Amino acid sequence: MMKRCWAEILGGCSHKISREHYIGRELLQKVKTHGLHDDLEGHELPATSLKAHILCENHNSQLSDTDQEAINLHEGLLRWFENEEDVRKGNGFWTPTCININGALFSRWLCKFHCNLSTLKGIIPAEHYVRSAFGEKTDPEPRFYVRLHPGDSISYERRIWYSDHIIGRSKSDENVLFHVYFMGLDFLVSPFALTDAIKSMLAEITGSQFYLGYWMEKPRKFVWKQGDIQTKSFVFDWESDGA
Ligand SMILES: [Zn+2]
Repeated sequence: MMKRCWAEILGGCSHKISREHYIGRELLQKVKTHGLHDDLEGHELPATSLKAHILCENHNSQLSDTDQEAINLHEGLLRWFENEEDVRKGNGFWTPTCININGALFSRWLCKFHCNLSTLKGIIPAEHYVRSAFGEKTDPEPRFYVRLHPGDSISYERRIWYSDHIIGRSKSDENVLFHVYFMGLDFLVSPFALTDAIKSMLAEITGSQFYLGYWMEKPRKFVWKQGDIQTKSFVFDWESDGA
């Protein structure tokens, strides 16, 4: 059977389908990945399942920069939390850190991941996610929510955790929702605005209160203070061109 590329609506597919893993090869080499929690739906990634066969080589290569921004985020978080445990034990202060993330580039990575997971689940990804993965401006825009819960950073170690759900199906075929943890930072890609009704539905699906936290749509900055001193900050530039 001929394998297909989820970006084929853009044209310019190469004949060869990429053997890239849907997390991204370089990112996968840097982190451990895992499904979310034992009690939630998640996916453990066997080390050998490195071939997704869902994107052609040409389109895959056009998305390699987006992997780099996910790696930047991960490495930034390692710096961010490097002396977290000492501080928690009352030894010393946080290292002043400012992490700047090209939000436009990172959101392209999130779109790519969304399209990868949708395709793996047999759902054709919505066109605005496909186009946004390649840096096109679309209407509507994909939705991204971010939540910070730094207390979890130690237990999540250096892993990326993710989970996905299908919230019913509609003719728009875009209803895969997923979230990805980068240590204490949590990203949700959702076709929906997170109304209270959606949040309760999500809580029902996951069987937990997990989603009922403070999700912010495209926050620009998180600031961490120790006493009165601003020591750590996280800045997302969502407006950059994503190139
Ligand atoms: Zn293609």
